[in-house]
Amino acid sequence: MSSREEVAFRRGGMQKRIRMALNAAKAEERSNIKGGETTVAFVNEGQCIGCDQCTIVCDDDAIELYDKEMNNPLIKVDINRKAKVLRDPCTGCRLCVLACPTDAIIMIDR
Ligand code: SF4
Ligand code: SF4
Repeated sequence: MSSREEVAFRRGGMQKRIRMALNAAKAEERSNIKGGETTVAFVNEGQCIGCDQCTIVCDDDAIELYDKEMNNPLIKVDINRKAKVLRDPCTGCRLCVLACPTDAIIMIDR
């Protein structure tokens, strides 16, 4: 029977392997995101949680947050914000796509 230390050691090794596999998959996914002058970011409103991460990373002031009414009037929250991309200042740099924790932003053709 394995000791507690042996189990912890094996578990640590397994965690490292899983983390490396996930990082590699994420890096490949990120390298496949299109960008550049011919593209513009787009926010899927339904996935946006208004966390403000995209506005922090956008150097071109191309993202604004706006207040949105809740779809269900029975749900009361003080603030329900969503992000929207301003097409003209967006340079297609993709930083907001990488920063968004909910994968709410995609790059589309201009
Ligand atoms: S980072 Fe994503 S979830 Fe957060 S405000 Fe921007 S679009 Fe919405
Ligand atoms: S792609 Fe770049 S410039 Fe466009 S909204 Fe995202 S962070 Fe801003």
